[in-house]
Amino acid sequence: MSYCVHCGVELAPSEESCPLCKTPVLDPNQPWSEPEERPYPERLEVVPTKIDHRYGAKLASLFLLIPMAAVLFSDLILDQHMTWSAYVLGACGCAFCWVILPFWLNVERPYLYIALNTLSSALYLALVAWMSGGFAWFPALALPLTMLAGCSAMISVYVCRRSRMPALDKVSIVFLIAAAVLAGLESLIDLWIDGEVRLVWSLYALLPLAALSAVFRIIERRPKLKENILKRLFL
Ligand SMILES: [Zn+2]
Repeated sequence: MSYCVHCGVELAPSEESCPLCKTPVLDPNQPWSEPEERPYPERLEVVPTKIDHRYGAKLASLFLLIPMAAVLFSDLILDQHMTWSAYVLGACGCAFCWVILPFWLNVERPYLYIALNTLSSALYLALVAWMSGGFAWFPALALPLTMLAGCSAMISVYVCRRSRMPALDKVSIVFLIAAAVLAGLESLIDLWIDGEVRLVWSLYALLPLAALSAVFRIIERRPKLKENILKRLFL
Protein backbone atom coordinates (compact mmCIF):
# COMPACT_ATOMS: atom_id res chain seq x y z
CA MET A 1 0.00 0.00 0.00
CA SER A 2 1.44 3.43 -0.89
CA TYR A 3 0.50 6.99 -0.08
CA CYS A 4 0.82 10.33 -1.89
CA VAL A 5 4.00 12.15 -0.78
CA HIS A 6 2.21 15.49 -0.99
CA CYS A 7 -1.27 15.07 0.49
CA GLY A 8 -1.04 11.63 2.11
CA VAL A 9 -4.04 10.11 0.32
CA GLU A 10 -3.96 6.31 -0.03
CA LEU A 11 -3.03 5.28 -3.57
CA ALA A 12 -4.19 2.26 -5.54
CA PRO A 13 -1.28 0.32 -7.18
CA SER A 14 -2.46 1.52 -10.58
CA GLU A 15 -2.08 5.26 -9.99
CA GLU A 16 0.15 7.32 -12.28
CA SER A 17 -0.56 10.46 -10.28
CA CYS A 18 -2.43 11.23 -7.06
CA PRO A 19 -6.16 11.36 -7.85
CA LEU A 20 -6.56 14.19 -5.34
CA CYS A 21 -3.64 16.60 -5.77
CA LYS A 22 -2.25 15.32 -9.09
CA THR A 23 1.31 14.86 -7.68
CA PRO A 24 3.10 12.29 -9.91
CA VAL A 25 3.62 8.87 -8.29
CA LEU A 26 7.20 7.58 -8.59
CA ASP A 27 7.37 4.08 -7.10
CA PRO A 28 10.57 2.18 -8.16
CA ASN A 29 9.10 -1.06 -6.83
CA GLN A 30 5.91 -0.76 -8.84
CA PRO A 31 6.36 1.05 -12.18
CA TRP A 32 3.15 2.43 -13.59
CA SER A 33 1.28 0.56 -16.30
CA GLU A 34 -2.17 1.30 -17.73
CA PRO A 35 -4.68 -0.65 -15.56
CA GLU A 36 -7.51 -2.62 -17.10
CA GLU A 37 -9.99 -1.02 -14.78
CA ARG A 38 -9.59 2.26 -12.92
CA PRO A 39 -10.37 2.22 -9.17
CA TYR A 40 -12.52 5.35 -9.52
CA PRO A 41 -14.81 6.71 -12.26
CA GLU A 42 -13.31 8.78 -15.09
CA ARG A 43 -15.46 11.82 -14.40
CA LEU A 44 -17.21 13.20 -11.36
CA GLU A 45 -20.94 12.75 -11.09
CA VAL A 46 -22.36 16.22 -10.53
CA VAL A 47 -25.10 16.09 -7.92
CA PRO A 48 -27.57 18.92 -8.47
CA THR A 49 -27.55 20.92 -5.24
CA LYS A 50 -30.14 23.47 -6.29
CA ILE A 51 -33.67 22.28 -5.74
CA ASP A 52 -36.25 23.73 -8.11
CA HIS A 53 -38.55 25.28 -5.52
CA ARG A 54 -40.88 26.79 -8.10
CA TYR A 55 -41.46 23.43 -9.73
CA GLY A 56 -42.19 21.92 -6.30
CA ALA A 57 -44.62 24.75 -5.58
CA LYS A 58 -46.42 24.19 -8.91
CA LEU A 59 -46.70 20.47 -8.17
CA ALA A 60 -47.97 21.08 -4.62
CA SER A 61 -50.56 23.58 -5.95
CA LEU A 62 -51.75 20.98 -8.40
CA PHE A 63 -52.08 18.39 -5.61
CA LEU A 64 -54.02 20.91 -3.53
CA LEU A 65 -56.48 21.46 -6.39
CA ILE A 66 -57.49 17.76 -6.33
CA PRO A 67 -59.15 17.73 -2.85
CA MET A 68 -60.56 21.23 -3.54
CA ALA A 69 -62.27 20.06 -6.72
CA ALA A 70 -63.48 16.83 -5.07
CA VAL A 71 -64.99 18.72 -2.11
CA LEU A 72 -66.63 21.34 -4.33
CA PHE A 73 -68.20 18.78 -6.69
CA SER A 74 -69.51 16.56 -3.90
CA ASP A 75 -71.04 19.60 -2.16
CA LEU A 76 -72.63 20.80 -5.40
CA ILE A 77 -74.01 17.33 -6.15
CA LEU A 78 -75.34 16.71 -2.60
CA ASP A 79 -76.75 20.17 -1.80
CA GLN A 80 -77.14 21.69 -5.29
CA HIS A 81 -75.28 24.78 -4.08
CA MET A 82 -72.09 25.64 -2.20
CA THR A 83 -72.43 25.13 1.57
CA TRP A 84 -69.85 23.37 3.78
CA SER A 85 -67.30 23.14 0.99
CA ALA A 86 -66.64 26.90 1.40
CA TYR A 87 -64.92 26.16 4.75
CA VAL A 88 -62.67 23.54 3.18
CA LEU A 89 -61.90 25.69 0.12
CA GLY A 90 -61.06 28.64 2.37
CA ALA A 91 -58.81 26.45 4.53
CA CYS A 92 -57.05 25.15 1.41
CA GLY A 93 -56.56 28.76 0.24
CA CYS A 94 -54.98 29.60 3.61
CA ALA A 95 -52.79 26.46 3.44
CA PHE A 96 -51.64 27.63 -0.01
CA CYS A 97 -50.70 31.06 1.35
CA TRP A 98 -48.96 29.67 4.44
CA VAL A 99 -47.09 26.70 3.00
CA ILE A 100 -46.82 26.84 -0.79
CA LEU A 101 -46.55 30.59 -1.36
CA PRO A 102 -43.08 30.98 0.25
CA PHE A 103 -41.69 28.74 -2.50
CA TRP A 104 -43.25 30.89 -5.22
CA LEU A 105 -42.07 34.12 -3.65
CA ASN A 106 -38.44 34.86 -3.21
CA VAL A 107 -37.12 34.39 0.33
CA GLU A 108 -36.16 38.07 0.18
CA ARG A 109 -39.80 39.11 0.25
CA PRO A 110 -40.91 38.38 3.82
CA TYR A 111 -43.10 41.50 4.05
CA LEU A 112 -45.15 40.50 1.03
CA TYR A 113 -45.47 36.96 2.48
CA ILE A 114 -46.70 38.30 5.85
CA ALA A 115 -49.10 40.75 4.15
CA LEU A 116 -50.62 38.02 1.98
CA ASN A 117 -50.94 35.66 4.94
CA THR A 118 -52.61 38.33 7.07
CA LEU A 119 -55.01 39.09 4.23
CA SER A 120 -55.82 35.41 3.54
CA SER A 121 -56.36 34.68 7.25
CA ALA A 122 -58.63 37.74 7.59
CA LEU A 123 -60.62 36.72 4.51
CA TYR A 124 -61.02 33.17 5.80
CA LEU A 125 -62.22 34.39 9.20
CA ALA A 126 -64.65 36.76 7.41
CA LEU A 127 -65.94 33.80 5.41
CA VAL A 128 -66.43 31.71 8.58
CA ALA A 129 -68.19 34.66 10.30
CA TRP A 130 -70.43 35.23 7.31
CA MET A 131 -71.27 31.52 6.88
CA SER A 132 -72.01 31.00 10.58
CA GLY A 133 -74.52 33.85 10.55
CA GLY A 134 -72.95 35.94 13.33
CA PHE A 135 -70.76 38.43 11.50
CA ALA A 136 -70.36 40.88 14.44
CA TRP A 137 -67.28 39.17 15.96
CA PHE A 138 -65.33 39.56 12.75
CA PRO A 139 -64.90 43.38 12.63
CA ALA A 140 -64.83 43.69 16.44
CA LEU A 141 -62.44 40.85 17.31
CA ALA A 142 -61.12 38.66 14.48
CA LEU A 143 -60.01 41.45 12.13
CA PRO A 144 -58.13 43.52 14.76
CA LEU A 145 -56.47 40.33 16.12
CA THR A 146 -55.33 39.32 12.64
CA MET A 147 -54.02 42.83 11.98
CA LEU A 148 -52.21 42.82 15.34
CA ALA A 149 -50.52 39.50 14.48
CA GLY A 150 -49.59 40.69 10.96
CA CYS A 151 -48.21 44.06 12.10
CA SER A 152 -46.18 42.56 14.97
CA ALA A 153 -44.73 39.93 12.61
CA MET A 154 -43.73 42.69 10.14
CA ILE A 155 -42.10 44.83 12.83
CA SER A 156 -40.22 41.76 14.21
CA VAL A 157 -38.93 40.88 10.73
CA TYR A 158 -37.90 44.52 10.16
CA VAL A 159 -35.95 44.54 13.45
CA CYS A 160 -34.30 41.15 12.78
CA ARG A 161 -33.19 42.21 9.28
CA ARG A 162 -31.43 45.37 10.47
CA SER A 163 -27.83 44.37 9.86
CA ARG A 164 -26.24 47.11 12.00
CA MET A 165 -28.16 46.31 15.16
CA PRO A 166 -26.41 43.94 17.62
CA ALA A 167 -28.05 40.48 17.82
CA LEU A 168 -29.02 40.71 21.50
CA ASP A 169 -30.65 44.11 20.98
CA LYS A 170 -32.82 42.51 18.30
CA VAL A 171 -33.83 39.74 20.75
CA SER A 172 -34.56 42.40 23.36
CA ILE A 173 -36.88 44.33 20.99
CA VAL A 174 -38.66 41.12 19.88
CA PHE A 175 -39.42 40.37 23.56
CA LEU A 176 -40.96 43.84 23.91
CA ILE A 177 -43.02 43.31 20.74
CA ALA A 178 -44.28 39.99 22.19
CA ALA A 179 -45.27 41.79 25.40
CA ALA A 180 -47.12 44.48 23.40
CA VAL A 181 -48.91 41.80 21.35
CA LEU A 182 -50.14 40.06 24.52
CA ALA A 183 -51.37 43.38 25.95
CA GLY A 184 -53.11 44.13 22.63
CA LEU A 185 -54.65 40.66 22.60
CA GLU A 186 -56.08 41.03 26.09
CA SER A 187 -57.33 44.56 25.34
CA LEU A 188 -59.19 43.40 22.24
CA ILE A 189 -60.74 40.43 24.06
CA ASP A 190 -61.74 42.70 26.98
CA LEU A 191 -63.31 45.21 24.61
CA TRP A 192 -65.28 42.46 22.90
CA ILE A 193 -66.51 40.85 26.13
CA ASP A 194 -66.93 43.77 28.58
CA GLY A 195 -66.59 46.89 26.44
CA GLU A 196 -63.67 48.17 28.54
CA VAL A 197 -59.98 47.30 28.95
CA ARG A 198 -58.71 45.83 32.25
CA LEU A 199 -55.32 44.27 31.74
CA VAL A 200 -54.66 41.32 34.07
CA TRP A 201 -52.97 38.23 32.63
CA SER A 202 -51.04 40.09 29.96
CA LEU A 203 -49.36 42.12 32.73
CA TYR A 204 -48.07 38.88 34.29
CA ALA A 205 -46.51 38.04 30.93
CA LEU A 206 -45.39 41.61 30.27
CA LEU A 207 -43.24 41.91 33.41
CA PRO A 208 -40.99 38.85 32.80
CA LEU A 209 -40.75 39.70 29.09
CA ALA A 210 -39.70 43.28 29.89
CA ALA A 211 -37.17 41.96 32.43
CA LEU A 212 -35.71 39.52 29.88
CA SER A 213 -35.55 42.31 27.31
CA ALA A 214 -33.61 44.49 29.79
CA VAL A 215 -31.23 41.60 30.60
CA PHE A 216 -30.40 41.09 26.89
CA ARG A 217 -29.74 44.82 26.45
CA ILE A 218 -27.42 44.82 29.48
CA ILE A 219 -25.50 41.73 28.25
CA GLU A 220 -25.02 43.33 24.82
CA ARG A 221 -23.45 46.38 26.50
CA ARG A 222 -21.00 44.36 28.65
CA PRO A 223 -18.57 42.70 26.22
CA LYS A 224 -16.74 40.74 28.96
CA LEU A 225 -19.95 39.30 30.39
CA LYS A 226 -21.18 38.42 26.89
CA GLU A 227 -17.88 36.69 26.06
CA ASN A 228 -18.02 34.74 29.31
CA ILE A 229 -21.57 33.52 28.63
CA LEU A 230 -20.72 32.53 25.04
CA LYS A 231 -17.66 30.59 26.27
CA ARG A 232 -19.70 28.73 28.86
CA LEU A 233 -22.29 27.88 26.22
CA PHE A 234 -19.47 26.68 23.90
CA LEU A 235 -20.61 29.13 21.19
ZN1 LIG B 1 -1.90 13.76 -3.33
